[in-house]
Amino acid sequence: MEQSRGLRLILLPLPFQGHINPMLELGNLLHSKGFSITIVHTKFNSLNPSSHPHFTFHSIPVDLSESEASVKEAGRLLSLINAKCVEPFRECLVTLLSDAEEDPVACLISDPLLHFTRSVAESFELPRILLRTGGAASFAVYAAFPLLKEKGYLPIQDSRLEEPVTELSPFKVKDLPRMDTCDPESFYQLITNMANEPKASSGLIFNTFEDLEQHALATLRQDSYPNIPIFPIGPFHKCDAAPSSSTGLLEEDQSCISWLNTQAPKSVVYVSFGSIAAVKEAQFLEIAWGLANSNHPFLWVVRPGLVHGSEPLPDGFLESLNGRGHIVKWAPQKQVLAHPAVGAFWTHNGWNSTLESVCEGVPMICMPCFSDQMANARYVSHVWKVGVQIEHGIERAEIERTINLLMVEKEGEEIRDRALKLMEKANLCLKEGGSSYRSLDGLVKHILSIKS
Ligand code: UDP
Repeated sequence: MEQSRGLRLILLPLPFQGHINPMLELGNLLHSKGFSITIVHTKFNSLNPSSHPHFTFHSIPVDLSESEASVKEAGRLLSLINAKCVEPFRECLVTLLSDAEEDPVACLISDPLLHFTRSVAESFELPRILLRTGGAASFAVYAAFPLLKEKGYLPIQDSRLEEPVTELSPFKVKDLPRMDTCDPESFYQLITNMANEPKASSGLIFNTFEDLEQHALATLRQDSYPNIPIFPIGPFHKCDAAPSSSTGLLEEDQSCISWLNTQAPKSVVYVSFGSIAAVKEAQFLEIAWGLANSNHPFLWVVRPGLVHGSEPLPDGFLESLNGRGHIVKWAPQKQVLAHPAVGAFWTHNGWNSTLESVCEGVPMICMPCFSDQMANARYVSHVWKVGVQIEHGIERAEIERTINLLMVEKEGEEIRDRALKLMEKANLCLKEGGSSYRSLDGLVKHILSIKS
């Protein structure tokens, strides 16, 4: 890709873990295609340039106070970030675009939740491509929000949770995105604004692959964004080009790898609910006892903030398990999922976690918490059939039953087999001639054709 050499791409991630990781991985991919990569990041959740010495990093003076950062209402938090970023990002672009020492800038790649980038990019006549860090199926649900409202599915009514959404198979009302910390009308606005952003962009990138979400990708192309090119070029982190460097905002505890090395193949339940989801104290206890009672070894990520309130693990809990359980604050998750000792992943089904599990053929226990996680979990359990959902609340007996179903029973064996077959598809799409491989080439050509 000689034509891309000497051209620079500016990448601006939304400053949260699940958005930062895929944006940096995308940077790696595009760097391997010859582009220079500049990452613009906020002081809030700022990035460590030494993790990617082949990129240029620019920090913009945008920070959140402790009280601002703890705003639970997603719409308010995102509005705050968008409002605070406008001027610093504009000033940063003035510098970057006028720097004669640097390669000329071909385009900006940003997150559809950073809607302020639209007007800023337009004012510089800089083409803007969006990276949606979630899956295509959940994005198709977001894009259908006006229809779902018109048909009366939104706002979600508790009495209708088990009803199928006939316009959006295989979803039920309970799978539709919602956030308990956001009132339904603000959430509706947040989502419809985000889903409209691609219409004012030069393209939409997904960290997914055709075989995984073919139907949803076709819906997005035909119905939602007929005029916007869509590039499913994932799974980003599995591309040969992507060096695996840590992009964690918390320090990874490598002790879990030595602990995994002592465990039997496919015996361990890995438990992590990502960087944002939180559980109540009582639920935390049920999880602990469910894991203990399952009799399987477990590796559990208990990050600061996972539990509302204190962390009420009973005294001597781990000791009483004689080494069968290991708890860390933050794990090198991709390494963990690729470890031969891991037999199942109990996840909140954030898109990155879901995809990382798919890529390693690890079957999932799904416990979605908010926004797109319910839709992802529905796909895991009912479309790809590579996992089971905890259906009847976070309760120790239910947890024990679900773990055993997946790890021991006949139904679990079929699920485990399907997970391995899906992993093979994930690997194939990246090989020369595979769908993501071709789509990435398509993206490079597209960037060269729109460059400012
Ligand atoms: N992650 C990690 N260590 C952990 C837990 C999570 O490295 O202990 C990473 C995980 O690999 C994934 C990201 O954090 O890339 C979480 O993104 P996801 O979309 O799954 O969930 P979110 O945090 O956005 O809810």
